[in-house]
Amino acid sequence: MNFKSLPQLLDHFKEEATCIEYYELVRWNGYPVCPHCGSERVYKTTRGYKCANNECYKKFTVKVGTIFENSKISLRIWFAAIFLATNHKKGISSVQLASDLGITQKTAWFVLHRIREMLKVKEPKLLGNDNMVEVDETYIGGKNKFKHHGKKRSVIDNTLTNEGKPYVPKKMVVGIIERNGQVVLKHVPSADLNNIGSFISKHVQQGSTIYSDEAPVYNHLKKFYTHDNVQHGINIYVEGNVHTNTIENFWSVLKRGLYGIYHQVSDKHLERYLDEYSARFNTRSLTNQQRFEKFLLDSESSLSYKRLTLKS
Ligand SMILES: [Zn+2]
Repeated sequence: MNFKSLPQLLDHFKEEATCIEYYELVRWNGYPVCPHCGSERVYKTTRGYKCANNECYKKFTVKVGTIFENSKISLRIWFAAIFLATNHKKGISSVQLASDLGITQKTAWFVLHRIREMLKVKEPKLLGNDNMVEVDETYIGGKNKFKHHGKKRSVIDNTLTNEGKPYVPKKMVVGIIERNGQVVLKHVPSADLNNIGSFISKHVQQGSTIYSDEAPVYNHLKKFYTHDNVQHGINIYVEGNVHTNTIENFWSVLKRGLYGIYHQVSDKHLERYLDEYSARFNTRSLTNQQRFEKFLLDSESSLSYKRLTLKS
């Protein structure tokens, strides 16, 4: 198998049987396991497998317990969707994906959310150490007349309206990025020590060097880290190594994508979009095929339509 482009991927995975065989190898490495009880004793049937454990005895295919479960579209189309969603630098909309793959927009929307579930990092590794780290917060969306007044004006009265239109609150995102490495993102309700401090201590190795702006929430970092900050308030953006340009660049890609491709992102789904953008960024040095294979290894998760559309 060797593919660099979508046509090559589709050529290789021409038959559904090839896709299933390949995915069985990725998921089970040749030794099928019952997804219902974990039994390694299974029978092969004409349509998949049957568990040999007397107390279970259930039928299954390789799709059960994965993002592909209960989906009517073929693995071939799923593979193409994963390829497209992880290769477009700013993401791909459900309208575009539907048109590219000849599926309905509703199906494409669901496929993309399941792919985001797959892209979520299950066991994050610690950032920092020898790699310098930048931390910063930004705001996503929101409609009100202070929108362009600089990101530090975070105290907003929720009752404000803009020319009679309902007020849509902005969503705060905090990001930690290595100068030559990985990024982690989180949607937080506010920029207080509780939210941001615990996020940093969870993801950054103690003793690492962290750069930020002068927001007071970062003052405590000196306790556990080497910390320095730029003073955006007096227009100092770079002082030697002290800057937050890496995360600022990341924010601009994120925002161009979110606004340009997805337009409006609800509170409920923002975290999933953040997973998508960080996954793409964190695999930027891999080839298209390596990225595809890496993500497919993480496809053992399930996100039902019911859970996805549940009103929160
Ligand atoms: Zn079983």
